[in-house]
Amino acid sequence: MTNPSRIRAFTSWRRQLSAALACLALAATLSGCDSPGAISGQDDSDRPVVLTTFTVLADIARNVGGDKITVESITKAGAEIHGYEPTPQDIAKASRAHLILDNGLNLEAWFEQFIVELDVPHVVVSEGVEVMDISEDANAGLPNPHAWMSPVNVQVYVENIRDAFIELDPENREYYTRNATAYNAELETLEKNLVQGLSGLKENERALVTCEGAFSYLARDAGLTEKYIWAVNAEQQATPRQIASAIEFVKDNEVPAVFCESTVSDAPMQQVVQGSGSTYGGTLFVDSLSEADGPVPTYLDLIRHDTDVILQALTGDKP
Ligand SMILES: [Zn+2]
Repeated sequence: MTNPSRIRAFTSWRRQLSAALACLALAATLSGCDSPGAISGQDDSDRPVVLTTFTVLADIARNVGGDKITVESITKAGAEIHGYEPTPQDIAKASRAHLILDNGLNLEAWFEQFIVELDVPHVVVSEGVEVMDISEDANAGLPNPHAWMSPVNVQVYVENIRDAFIELDPENREYYTRNATAYNAELETLEKNLVQGLSGLKENERALVTCEGAFSYLARDAGLTEKYIWAVNAEQQATPRQIASAIEFVKDNEVPAVFCESTVSDAPMQQVVQGSGSTYGGTLFVDSLSEADGPVPTYLDLIRHDTDVILQALTGDKP
């Protein structure tokens, strides 16, 4: 897929890289400096260093980059990613990266300002996905940024990442292409299992009530009705009206269980539980993976985990 903005980004990056190398050569001549190593980032190897805005993207990118690219996430596991405030260390680290991958679709409210301060190219990995709009609240009509909650969309992310890595490191074109194809086959199976797994829900169980409106794509794929307290986590302050609206929905539809996400407090959803007589179904993962020893160290784990938790809670079939 041709991507003019990306090509522009890389053309600009190459210009900046040439300029940086020229400066370093000049500095070495003038000062006798002998350590022009800053270009290779913080990684000791000569692999390109790629940063992502959050952990889910980092895992997806690692599946494409394999051992040829060092991938790290700017935000850490468990962090709130929408309204994140980058630290000076984040900026210093990012300034040494070769490429930054961001989700786009207004996910990272902090990113526009962040990238403006850096001479590093970035690629928006959601480019080309079929975007769903937010239907409620002050954010109504804006794109729902959580496109990765459909494995079908993540196949598009993978293609964008593959193309970006080939631009960055053309010598390993075959390697990235092979990795992307293999991972996309896993995503295809993941999508099938997600849809099949949730297809057994009965009519009154087909409602997914969560804190954040982050499940629109998953609910669409699985044929569920979605209800949330707030549209995007940047708000995170549930108003009495939002709580009342969720309670009303749960009562009207006799929804057996409700959920909240790992990166926010579940206190507002506990209010919905108390007010509606429903049960708390468990914690879902969306905006962040867990640590390596937690329940969802990878994106594939995240979708499997959420599918299982939703299914078990809504059918009352607790493990
Ligand atoms: Zn979110």
